[in-house]
Amino acid sequence: MQEDALWQAVLGEIELSVSRGNFVTWFKNTSLVKNSDETVVIGVANIFIKQQLERKYGDLISQTLAKNGLSPKLVEYRIVSSVPSSPSSPEASRHRSPSTDFAQDSEGPAESFQTSPATPVMVTAKKSSNAGGLTLTHSYRQGLNERYTLDGFVVGGSNELAFAACQAVADRPGTKYNPLFLYGGVGIGKTHLIQAVGNILTAKHPDAKILYISMEQFVQEFVDALRFRKTAAFAGHYRTADVLIVDDVQFIAGKEKMQEEFFHTFNALHQANKQIIISADKPPKDIPTLEDRLKSRFSGGMSIDMQAPDFETRCAIAQTKAQAHGIALDRELVEYLANSIQTNIRELEGALNQLLAYCEVRNLAPSLNIASGLLNVNRTRPKHLSARQIIERTAKHFQIPVEDIVGPKRDKDIVVPRQVAMYMLRNELKLSFPKIARELGRKDHTTAIHSVDKIDREVRLDATLRMAISEIREHLYA
Ligand code: ADP
Ligand code: MG
Repeated sequence: MQEDALWQAVLGEIELSVSRGNFVTWFKNTSLVKNSDETVVIGVANIFIKQQLERKYGDLISQTLAKNGLSPKLVEYRIVSSVPSSPSSPEASRHRSPSTDFAQDSEGPAESFQTSPATPVMVTAKKSSNAGGLTLTHSYRQGLNERYTLDGFVVGGSNELAFAACQAVADRPGTKYNPLFLYGGVGIGKTHLIQAVGNILTAKHPDAKILYISMEQFVQEFVDALRFRKTAAFAGHYRTADVLIVDDVQFIAGKEKMQEEFFHTFNALHQANKQIIISADKPPKDIPTLEDRLKSRFSGGMSIDMQAPDFETRCAIAQTKAQAHGIALDRELVEYLANSIQTNIRELEGALNQLLAYCEVRNLAPSLNIASGLLNVNRTRPKHLSARQIIERTAKHFQIPVEDIVGPKRDKDIVVPRQVAMYMLRNELKLSFPKIARELGRKDHTTAIHSVDKIDREVRLDATLRMAISEIREHLYA
């Protein structure tokens, strides 16, 4: 189809000017729905992609359209339920040049580890976890699970740096960011990212010795090696790796002999410019009883602090994971999930899977109702949450002074936040209308009734308003 070819050309150019993570997250599953002199309509999978394209990439898209001979008066984004996907070769070749902003900043094109044209890097999240793929010809590959891919990783503010660094390391292992050290809380994607790097490198360099191991397992192997007097073999195995990926390195704490052994392994690899990738739940300096020399080794490359994904990213993750099951969730439900589970993506995934399984068995469409009944997530309300905190948080969110929100001003950019604050007081604290009015410095309680009513109606229609409220809530309950 002509439209399709045209759109592929546009995407091809866009891909060259944004990072790979952003391309995959925001552009990959878009299509050209309509193309006339007046209007170009771009089909997108959900509201988040729509908003992001409108807000952040509008100019880039218009410019790229123009370069391809399209100068419509209006570019519109439309949410289409099923975005045509072409998982086969054209797609794969489009994504063959995995460069990131991050990597481009510093060095020229890849050298020794250049991507070969046939690189099967594009194992996407759609593929089921046990579908062929990685062949376990070497026992030392066993640690890698092919379900973890960079394509299947949703990039947002909390993890974009880590993502970009992993991408750069996958492009040119051993050249910079060595060691790459990712740290952060549970269930935020550390294992996913470092495994994805291992998978890419394994696919690119089938003969290289790419080792992934969790520190727990590493310690166990070492203990066995000591017991069976096989420490030389153990050392030999790990010190000859081309890439060594060690997950949850904090488990080395307090194990002196292991630290000694790991120090030498580290040095051997580092001196030979072999890539080392490490994850932990905290930065090296905070790992108790970690020898200073290991702390300094670990901090000697690139350390990245990963945070729990923000609300928007959690929504995108939930949507992406559902899509991988061939299911499109409606926005309310996605937001409910993203709100119910705020820090641990593993739990978010668990909740989603539970919901999808429940619905599949009963042949129901997933809905907010089912989810809230099923998941029964009790958002714990801090007892100390006060009206004042809600008002302050709301004012802060909209970047206006608290005095204004409770004061006499009637400007629109004050009135709306004030109404939101009233809505929050009603919903979060169940305050009476007269009390709500008083808290906001209004004499008449009917103002409070109207305000709560208005926001209640608008929140159903306006995604940005919903998002604002979610964010305020998130801060209140953080
Ligand atoms: P950690 O190692 O930090 O504890 P994991 O990497 O095991 O966390 O992530 C937990 C689960 O959440 C995994 O199934 C992973 O695929 C998923 N996950 C986490 N972050 C993301 C993300 N940004 N995009 C997609 N999936 C994610
Ligand atoms: Mg992990």
